Amino acid sequence: MIKEGWEAVIGMEIHAQLATNTKIFCGCAVETGGEPNSNTCPVCLGLPGALPVLNKRVIDLGARAALSLGLQIQESSIFARKNYFYPDLPKGYQISQYDKPFSANGKLTIMTSERDDQGRAVEWKPMTIRIERMHLEEDAGKNVHEGLPDVDKYSYVDLNRAGTPLGEIVTAPDFRTSWQAYDYVNHVRSVLRWVGASDADMEKGNLRCEANVSVRKIGETGFNNKSELKNLNSVRFMQKAIEFEIVRQIEAHEKSEPVNQETRLWDEKNQCTRVMRSKEDAHDYRYFPEPDLQPLKVTAEFIENVRKQMPELPDAMRDRFMTGYSLSFSDASQIVTEADLAAFYEAAAKESGNPRVTANFLLSELQREMNNSGKTMAESPVSAKELAALIKTLDSGAINNNQAKEVLVEMFDSGKTAATVISEKGFEQISDSAEIEKIVDEIIEKNENQVTAYRGGNDKLFGFFVGQVMRASEGKANPKIVNEILKQKL
Ligand SMILES: [Zn+2]
Repeated sequence: MIKEGWEAVIGMEIHAQLATNTKIFCGCAVETGGEPNSNTCPVCLGLPGALPVLNKRVIDLGARAALSLGLQIQESSIFARKNYFYPDLPKGYQISQYDKPFSANGKLTIMTSERDDQGRAVEWKPMTIRIERMHLEEDAGKNVHEGLPDVDKYSYVDLNRAGTPLGEIVTAPDFRTSWQAYDYVNHVRSVLRWVGASDADMEKGNLRCEANVSVRKIGETGFNNKSELKNLNSVRFMQKAIEFEIVRQIEAHEKSEPVNQETRLWDEKNQCTRVMRSKEDAHDYRYFPEPDLQPLKVTAEFIENVRKQMPELPDAMRDRFMTGYSLSFSDASQIVTEADLAAFYEAAAKESGNPRVTANFLLSELQREMNNSGKTMAESPVSAKELAALIKTLDSGAINNNQAKEVLVEMFDSGKTAATVISEKGFEQISDSAEIEKIVDEIIEKNENQVTAYRGGNDKLFGFFVGQVMRASEGKANPKIVNEILKQKL
């Protein structure tokens, strides 16, 4: 919670690595974990005279990313040199985009909620974020400080990452709480994976985010000095860092202490942010157009083609599941977090004819088994068709809910079909009316006194008859049918 009378002003920058096989301006492979400097060539090493050639796949994936985030792809954009000196940047400049970015003027609606003390969502509401731009650029290399065992006082430069394509997604300062920023990053991560633009895995570093945080008194419209939070290794760390910064800055303002414009890091061990360096301004970089690359032209026809090839976006799918399959917002949202999961659900729901129960079994039972075994949806031993078969058997009344859950666990462990597991466990209920009628007739014949008492008005005895029939059938008679037949016969 933010102290009364104050508000936070937060803008987000996300660097998403576009999922190409090769680098943005040369043919070197994009790979992680190779020998240092093994995936390099004169272009990405920054050797004199080497010329960049734009990778067309970057434009395809960049367009997918832009469209999935509600951005407008610009007809013409310009690559620019961003000049700064750092050992992992061999050319002394980064090829990026500046005043003419690849895409701009985005509007993205996300679902967001504050969280209670236990971290549970309080109430999900839509929120529209202005995304100012997504531009394309190359990544820098990496400085490695680990060193070799006996020469660890040295640092090394590994340029395997240099030239990896990035989309930098910049929002307006529209967020007012750390949870809004948290929900935004999760949304972007999920949508970029969904359209195949990026693997968007923060742990592997192919999605990196930075938050610009300042605070002001409610009613003020200007901006106070902001801090830029960097090196945030997870969305949760980012949220905690923002929360810490809000409290720290409000305290400083109230004590009339200076709040400097600076870059800060999150220190997870001590649960606080620390100063990294004072912040550069854009003019420090002396941007100018990259003379070795033509302006990038994108036609309306190209954009339309990309749009046609894109899958239905998660938001649209979520809404469709809510209206078409009567799912709750929370269930539908959970299902559309992964494309594989959503496809699995839709196939199973259609086949079973019972979308709500299918969602329940998928989100509780099946996902629990997946989490316990560390399997992904694509590796599930239970197919959508077999989950549907199980739900159909449940709906027919042949097995009950608890039995269905037990069967699903066994299907997951053994890879056997629903029908096989049900018959192996002897769960099949007797749903044949003629067979149940026979048992009911026997019970009525054997219990003349109780029948007379029941017919004389002792309604409580109905349960006795149900019990007798169930016992005679060894618990296998379908209780619904037993009830119906008993009512008829008595
Ligand atoms: Zn290269």
